[in-house]
Amino acid sequence: MNFKEKLAKFFAGRYGGDSLNTVLNAFSVAALIAAVIVFGASGTAAAKVISLILWLVSLGLLGLGLFRTFSRNLTARRAEYEWYRSHIAAPIAKRRREARTRREQSATHRFFKCPGCGQTVRVPKGKGKIRITCPKCGKVFEKKS
Ligand SMILES: [Zn+2]
Repeated sequence: MNFKEKLAKFFAGRYGGDSLNTVLNAFSVAALIAAVIVFGASGTAAAKVISLILWLVSLGLLGLGLFRTFSRNLTARRAEYEWYRSHIAAPIAKRRREARTRREQSATHRFFKCPGCGQTVRVPKGKGKIRITCPKCGKVFEKKS
């Protein structure tokens, strides 16, 4: 078996990378940079301890990413990824989309949160004081458009 075949055999059945690993790696690098900055900023004992902690966090995140990449337990890694996607990545993407929509429509519309259920409600701008009925829960409230 040559080196290439050995390498292929080693990687066969292993999980590999996903976007959760990319995030773990990014935070690992960020923690490492922070550790260097804190260490260089002052020579106090407290700075050294904080720097050490940041360095350990960086190493831990790096190790976790590598562990996930080389793991053979695909079911567990996919479950982790699915949790990350639905609990972290998707809500962040949704908030960004909503913020962009608000920016794009800010000249013509105003956005309010329903006091009853928290649903965002969009109304046309410049109609004075108006009565808004929440489309989700039916609560009626007044706002200045
Ligand atoms: Zn509501």
